[in-house]
Amino acid sequence: MSRLPVMSSKRVLTSSSSSSENAQEFAPAQKRIRKDPDPVKPHAAATIIGGKRPAVAPSRAPFSKPARGMGAATVAVGPSRGVLKQSVASTAAKGGNIRQSVAPAATKAGGGGTTKRHAWDLKGKVSDMEGKVRNYQTKFKSVNQENEALRDTMVQRQSKMVEMEKELKKQKSQISEYEEELQALSGVREELEKVSSDKSTLQKELSNLEGKYKVMETLRDSQETELQTLKMKLSVQESTLARVQGTLRDTEEEVRSLKETVAQQEDELHAGEMERRRLHNTIQELKGNIRVFCRVRPLVDGGLSKHIQLPASDVKTITLAKTEESHTGKTAETQKNYIFSFDRVFGPMASQQEVFEEISLLVQSALDGYNVCCFAYGQTGSGKTYTMEGAEYDQARGVIPRAVQQIFRAAEKLATQGWEFTFTASFVEIYNESLRDLLYTGKASKRPEHEIRKSTNNEVTITNLTYEKVSNEDQVLGLIALANQNRSTAQTAQNDRSSRSHSVFQLDIEGVNVGRDVKCKSTLCLVDLAGSERMLKSQSQGERFKEMTAINGSLSNLGIVISALANKESYVPYRNSKLTYLLQSCLGGNSKTLMFVNIAPESDSFGETLNSLRFASKVNDCVIGTASANRK
Ligand code: ADP
Ligand code: MG
Repeated sequence: MSRLPVMSSKRVLTSSSSSSENAQEFAPAQKRIRKDPDPVKPHAAATIIGGKRPAVAPSRAPFSKPARGMGAATVAVGPSRGVLKQSVASTAAKGGNIRQSVAPAATKAGGGGTTKRHAWDLKGKVSDMEGKVRNYQTKFKSVNQENEALRDTMVQRQSKMVEMEKELKKQKSQISEYEEELQALSGVREELEKVSSDKSTLQKELSNLEGKYKVMETLRDSQETELQTLKMKLSVQESTLARVQGTLRDTEEEVRSLKETVAQQEDELHAGEMERRRLHNTIQELKGNIRVFCRVRPLVDGGLSKHIQLPASDVKTITLAKTEESHTGKTAETQKNYIFSFDRVFGPMASQQEVFEEISLLVQSALDGYNVCCFAYGQTGSGKTYTMEGAEYDQARGVIPRAVQQIFRAAEKLATQGWEFTFTASFVEIYNESLRDLLYTGKASKRPEHEIRKSTNNEVTITNLTYEKVSNEDQVLGLIALANQNRSTAQTAQNDRSSRSHSVFQLDIEGVNVGRDVKCKSTLCLVDLAGSERMLKSQSQGERFKEMTAINGSLSNLGIVISALANKESYVPYRNSKLTYLLQSCLGGNSKTLMFVNIAPESDSFGETLNSLRFASKVNDCVIGTASANRK
């Protein structure tokens, strides 16, 4: 709307500033500009105007040439060009006034020019020029007026613009305020969103809790009902309790009196136990503190031995019958009988159980605090080891495992009466007068030497010997197995060594009854002696001779020691052999001794059997002084 007048005024100015241009020159210039690739050039505006040829071109043509000499117009318009531009721009809003005022003037001037004068008509030409000048002056005046008007307008506009700029600033500051506010609001919005999400979470939780509350309520109701029931039950129970408490009081009274009775009975029981021990000991003493049992081994083929006679009516006698051919040959064979009597004679049919029953009373004495010693004496193969150890299976078990079993069972029973026992086992072999630990488990090359030591209170110990604390039967059986293993390894190195050595199993028993302040201490010795067979001196040489001498020496010394004890001799040669020295505390006045004399029934063993029976009866004749228990 406003563009057209602006352009037209511009074109007027342009044409006045370039006075040398005529219409013809201008047209090509327009073309040139159109083709000009640089659209920034100010001519571009004129180019656009040029586009409207029908309107502009005719109005330009008349004053293109005459304008050349018109410095006034050029001067008047030139300096105000920049201002004019502004005024034109501002005037643009008003409409096409300028054009209307300028264009007719130009047309008039041009109209003067349309009448062609002759070259000589200078006057005419001057008047034309004057007309033109007047025209221009008028135009100039009107343009000036217009210019003034435009200046006013411009001033107005400028003040308006200042106002507007102020307004704009204000607006801008307001906008920035709004923006700040907006920003603040967006923060608030975020917070609001968060709050609303929190709210929804809380609502969910609330509904959850409500659900739970409902469940709790139901639960509470049911529990209340239960509580009521329980209260009822409680009151019932309370009355029952009161009744029971009454009964309890009565019962407590009863228990108290029963406890008194029990204590009394315990005292009586203890007194009874002590009395039993005393009587048991009296019986043992009456039976003799040293006793000899004879045991005859069955024949290997199970038949009956011809030279051994065991009267059915008498369990204490054995007769060896020797048949000798008559020297004359006329009379029948003569028979010589050797009769021996012992505390008990066991025939070949006697079981291990039967044999043990007789010894069990002595084993009981060991728990009562008496030293007990049990020997097996006899030639090799007569059944010593069978009697002492027996075989693995139950019925064939010998004295040692049975004694151990009895002791542990009795100790268990005595524990109910306040007795506490500790047991220590050891197993030693005496070979060629030297000691060997049968419970040794170390390296063979590091076997220690042993010596017998006697303490001031007459207790005998062996240096470097294994003394194993045991608390049950199985442990002892394990030790016996270990001892047998140790003996057999020695045996492979030296044929049948076991028969030429004594093996001594010792169980030290210590008992204490704290409540009654009673203690007892004793040792149970179970000895499997070396074979008692004699050898002709001519048959034995070297190692065998040494062995024989050692065995004979220790066995005969055993006999001598027992005789010396029996005869109450002032000197008892315990130290003459390792065996008697070791068994010193188990032999003599303070102990009970049992000797098995084992007999081989074969007729070719007759001589050895006779020797054994003679040795045993010598022992049997001994009456060792009354034993007393080691009680404190
Ligand atoms: P020792 O130890 O005196 O050399 P053993 O105890 O080794 O003799 O006995 C020799 C053999 O006779 C062994 O085979 C043993 O089992 C057997 N024997 C010994 N006594 C009896 C017995 N009372 N009943 C059955 N067999 C016996
Ligand atoms: Mg043996």
